[in-house]
This record gives sequence, C-alpha cells and structure tokens, in this order.
Amino acid sequence: MTVNLLDLDHEALKAFCAGLGEKPFRAKQLLRWVHHAGADNFGNMTDISRLLRVKLAESAVITPPSVLRDTTAADGTRKWLLDVGTGNAIESVFIPEESRGTLCISSQAGCALECSFCSTGRQGFNRNLGVAEIIGQLWLASRALKSDPQGGGARTVPAEVDGADEGGADVATVDRPVSNVVMMGMGEPLANFDNVVSAMRLMLDDHAYGLSRRRVTLSTAGLVPGIDRLREACPVSLAVSLHAPNDRLRDELVPINRKYPIRELMAACLRYVDVAPRGYVMFEYVMLAGINDSVTQARELAALVKSVPCKVNLIPFNPFPGIPYQRSSAEAIGRFREVLMQAGLIATVRKTRGDDIDAACGQLAGQVKDRTKRVRRREATAATMEASR
Ligand code: SAH
Repeated sequence: MTVNLLDLDHEALKAFCAGLGEKPFRAKQLLRWVHHAGADNFGNMTDISRLLRVKLAESAVITPPSVLRDTTAADGTRKWLLDVGTGNAIESVFIPEESRGTLCISSQAGCALECSFCSTGRQGFNRNLGVAEIIGQLWLASRALKSDPQGGGARTVPAEVDGADEGGADVATVDRPVSNVVMMGMGEPLANFDNVVSAMRLMLDDHAYGLSRRRVTLSTAGLVPGIDRLREACPVSLAVSLHAPNDRLRDELVPINRKYPIRELMAACLRYVDVAPRGYVMFEYVMLAGINDSVTQARELAALVKSVPCKVNLIPFNPFPGIPYQRSSAEAIGRFREVLMQAGLIATVRKTRGDDIDAACGQLAGQVKDRTKRVRRREATAATMEASR
C-alpha cells in the first residue's frame, strides 16, 4: 500500500523507515525534505542513496490536498479552498502582519457543534480531516508564500514580540512566511484529537516546521476532556471560545455547553494554565449586538474569569447570509473592553481581516456534504415555523 508521507509525524516516520529496513535518522532527513524544503517527490533528495529513493518512490507519495481556489483580499489576507474529496472542500487563511504571518488551519470538513453564530456550524458535518489534510495546509501555504514574496516572504520576528520559549530559545529571526499557526479554521480540533495532535507535533518538530509551542494555538469550543488530554499530549497555546458569561446564554450560543457547563470548563482551563506556554489561557468572545455585549454582561464575565490567568480577545461578529445576529457597535465593544480592563483583565479587540473574501473568523464555509441530517432538520424546522405564521 502506498503511504502519504504527509500523514506521518516523526514517530510514525521512524516506524515507516524501520519497515523499509532503514535507520531512524532517515526519518529526520525525510522530514527536512518534505517539510523544510517542501519536496513533493524523491528525485531531488540528494543526501539519500539512489537505491533508497527508488524504494521510497515505490512505497510512498507526498500528496497535499489540491487547491481549488486561491484568493487574496485587499488587505493581503489570502484564502485557499482545498479539495478533500467526495464533494468536500475546506479553507485555510493566511494573515500577514508586520511582525508575523499567521496561518489559520481547518481540522474537520464541517463541524458538528452548531454554534449559533458560526457559518461552519451551519454547514453541518462530514468528517475528520486526516493528518496529511491538516499539515498539508501548512505545507501548501509555506510553499506558495515562499515563491511569492508579496504574499508573505521572509520576515523578521523581533524577539520582544514573543520572547523565548521555556525549555529552549525561540527563534528570534524567522525566515519563513508562516511564523504562527492557529487551529481556528473549520471544525472543532479537539473532536479530531489524534490527527490534530500528530499535525501539531510536526509543526513543533525542529526537523519539520520548528515552531515554538507559543506560536501554535489551538482554539476549542470547550471540550473539557479534550483540554485535559491536550495537557498531556501536546501543550500548545490554548484559546477557548467562551462567548457568554453564564450557562443560560452559553447553552444557546455554544450548545456543547449543555454537556460541559462553564464551571467545568473554567476548572479545565485552570488545570491547563500549569502547562500553557505563556502561562495563560485566551478567552475568545464574539461580540453580538444586544445579545452578549452589555456592561452588565462585561461585569459578569470579569467576575467569571477572575480566577483563571487569562487574556480576553473580543471578536467583532462577522456576518454571513441568513444569520439573524448583528455585530456590536464599536462603542459597545469599547465599553465592554473598558469594563474588563477596569477589573484588571487584559482585553484586546481582534482586527477583522479578509472579510471581503469571506476569510474572517466564522466565515469559513468551504463546501461540506452534511452527513448528519442536521442541516435538513434545521431547514424543516424553519419551514414549519414559516408555515405556522
Ligand atoms: N471550533 C473551534 C475553532 C474554530 S472557530 C472553536 O470554537 O474555538 C474560531 C473562532 O471564531 C472561535 O472563537 C469562534 O467562536 C469564532 N467565530 C465563529 N463564528 C464567528 C463569526 N461569525 N464571527 C466572529 N467570530 C466567529
């Protein structure tokens, strides 16, 4: 059977090499060729013997998802639509900034969590992405951006932006277009735990992408057991989509809250802080006009998160067709932030990027063949409501 090398993290690649009767150091060589150099065939792997190259060509391929569309927004944000087979497509987004380049990666075709304000959730769910489909997004973006200095190119990341990682110096100068990865694209990464962890291990591996743990962020809607597993398996930076200061509202906006309510979520965050690369958790809070953006709710939020070392990132809601919510006004967001700051919290407002190409938070829809019947169920409910009016 042919193996896709993009599916293998360092451990799996060592096992694969052993299967070919090769020493473990071959795995390092292969990682460097595949992920550093972006090789997609074995012909140019000059430090590998011709005989082994032939053996590799017979048993392995290097195949990322194929690019269906490649769009660049007015602000330089770039979005790729990638084919993941059987009528499904996913999206990745590159966000260039002065001091860093962030790639936002998808972990599932669709999402099963049905957060009420998220367009991916509305698409329904098809399946988990494989390791090659997850790391393939970084592989493709790194290659595309290296050959297009306009869209990224080499950049220098000043050391003071992120400082040094504990347990090893962080790279102060990064000559790579993607300096940060956020697992904030389509899907719930902790619901595809093993594949996401293997892909993140490649991001962190010095022989692959060599990113420090503080430059890789996983965002979750709050799968409590997954947060605990992540602590053990791969403690990267953690962002938690909170969006509401109490269970009543969170049950409505983030339905997984009915299974893992806020108290349990806060306890898991507190446990995670011990291993969090920067010593804090990031709470994300989407700003929905008249729903979760009042001064009272800001106070309630401040009281709720007080016991957890954290930062709060306020995300102006990004609308999409057919959604009843509206973005909070700049004044409401400013007021909300002020209350949090007064309470001694660090609160930032996420800059909206790439919304002219639907690349902003919550706008990633790709193309999902829903297998869960939830889209049909919702449409049927809407039709019944319409008919009874
Ligand atoms: N499932 C994960 C990661 C994907 S979403 C999670 O829930 O964290 C990445 C972030 O974008 C989350 O905080 C999510 O709640 C937010 N988001 C979703 N829809 C949005 C929208 N329409 N506008 C702004 N942010 C949104």
